[in-house]
Amino acid sequence: MAKNYDVIVIGAGPGGVTCGALLAKWGLKTLLIDKNAQVGGKAMTVAKNGFRYEYWPIAACPSSNTEIHSLLRILGLENEIELIAPDPMGRMFYETPSGEIKNLVLPGGGKPVDPQDLFNMLGVTDADMPEVMRLFTDILGMSRHDQNLLDEVSVVQFLDRYQIPRSLYSMLATLQSEGTLEVAGPIACASEFIKVFQQNNTQGGGLYPSGGFGRLYGAIARVMQSYGGDLLMRTKVERIAVENGRVKGVITNKGSFQAPIVVSNAGIQPTVLKLVGEEHFDKSYVNYVRDLVPSLGFAGARYFLSKPVLDCFMYVYCSDNTVTSLEEHLRAETGEMPKQMYIFMSTNSLYPGMAPPGKQLVYTGITCPADPRTKIKHYLDKVEAEIARLWPDVFKYIEEKEYYGPAQISRLSRDSVVPGTGGECIGLGQIVGQCGNLKPSPKAPVGGLFYVGADAGSSGFGNHMCVESGMNLFNIVRDYWFTHRAQF
Ligand SMILES: Cc1cc2nc3c(=O)[nH]c(=O)nc-3n(C[C@H](O)[C@H](O)[C@H](O)COP(=O)(O)OP(=O)(O)OC[C@H]3O[C@@H](n4cnc5c(N)ncnc54)[C@H](O)[C@@H]3O)c2cc1C
Repeated sequence: MAKNYDVIVIGAGPGGVTCGALLAKWGLKTLLIDKNAQVGGKAMTVAKNGFRYEYWPIAACPSSNTEIHSLLRILGLENEIELIAPDPMGRMFYETPSGEIKNLVLPGGGKPVDPQDLFNMLGVTDADMPEVMRLFTDILGMSRHDQNLLDEVSVVQFLDRYQIPRSLYSMLATLQSEGTLEVAGPIACASEFIKVFQQNNTQGGGLYPSGGFGRLYGAIARVMQSYGGDLLMRTKVERIAVENGRVKGVITNKGSFQAPIVVSNAGIQPTVLKLVGEEHFDKSYVNYVRDLVPSLGFAGARYFLSKPVLDCFMYVYCSDNTVTSLEEHLRAETGEMPKQMYIFMSTNSLYPGMAPPGKQLVYTGITCPADPRTKIKHYLDKVEAEIARLWPDVFKYIEEKEYYGPAQISRLSRDSVVPGTGGECIGLGQIVGQCGNLKPSPKAPVGGLFYVGADAGSSGFGNHMCVESGMNLFNIVRDYWFTHRAQF
């Protein structure tokens, strides 16, 4: 393996692997390094007892004409990886104030939910329609420019502008903030909420790569290698070497590598505060980075079942009370859980080749703090109590269970360098003041250092956002290399 490269990418998560493959294909000598044994970061696919499953993501959004489709075409992978938009996608469960639990099938294949079915389930009346229509017209017709005017407005503040029934308000705030952006509704950013809502409605909402997310990212890494890029797994970057304000390369537990450009998929806070070191940045930038807020973490279980229970890929639950307030989040940390909370359950076992015949893997969880030190027992107890109440059949067929929480998420993805961070689901929290025009720049104030993935360079939802960040960063780094190459 060479010691000198044009560019080193730290981290083979969705953002890092995408950017690395595009840079290698363009002709830059690229090294991609990851501490794990497999690529994919939080979206890694693993195998156990004949099951293949992701530790975490269940579906990408949007599902048709996405950047993931474009990337596969650019890399010549469109015939190798099938992108599945299952139909139906899932079921939405809604508990009425009187305790009745209704449900609605969520279509897939790029189709939106029929609004009339949704309104019937949520008890929206004719008298409610003028305000409901005003809301949907505003959201669906909003330009990117007008969305960015909402970068400092929360989802709750935005929805408060409309006199809509509590059921619809709660469904939107629950499923589109805590359920998608993985941040508390009262601080979730309205511009991101609207972008994801538009994508869901115009391009559909559930996408799964055949064979799993990990297979997708593995194929992308192989394309990087086919263009001469090197992939170094089970290797942890300990430092990014910086001299006179410019990156020089990286120091890992397996030796040092030189490059004039380093792209980090390790998260902005770990990159600045640990891998580079505060001493190489202005104090104001260090304070800015230290103050960034992560998304929420997640705690839950995987149940390996002897018999299928779910008839579609995803079940989501909400009620009029599932927009968890900041006070309820604080009380939950001490063990006092809200009576009703957003909860989801999903399976990838319905996709071909992902489970032994006649068996099913069910995965469930609820949001919790991103802090890897979080005591997750009461979150797990709440998940299990809700599963027993809402979908009791699951407990009849369990052969084996696994639990997880923010400590596992941090181990697989990013280090906790600021107290309270590390086990975040998405990455940077999509909260007011951190999205759209206010999202951190992907270019660091150290020559040749860039960030890729959830923390910078794109917007939207999870995997799709990170792939888009990788594609956007490719353009930025290519142009940087072209304009600065005489200095290297
Ligand atoms: C519970 C949960 C549910 C989710 N559900 C969904 C979903 O349904 N749909 C969806 O689209 N998204 C979902 N996501 C979010 C999605 O998986 C993440 O947003 C995405 O994986 C972030 O990608 P990334 O490019 O930022 O890198 P990450 O996935 O964070 O990967 C970072 C990589 O960098 C490597 N790395 C870090 N530091 C170092 C170092 N010092 N040296 C070497 N390597 C290093 C890590 O090993 C890792 O491989 C979910 C996440 C979680 C946790």
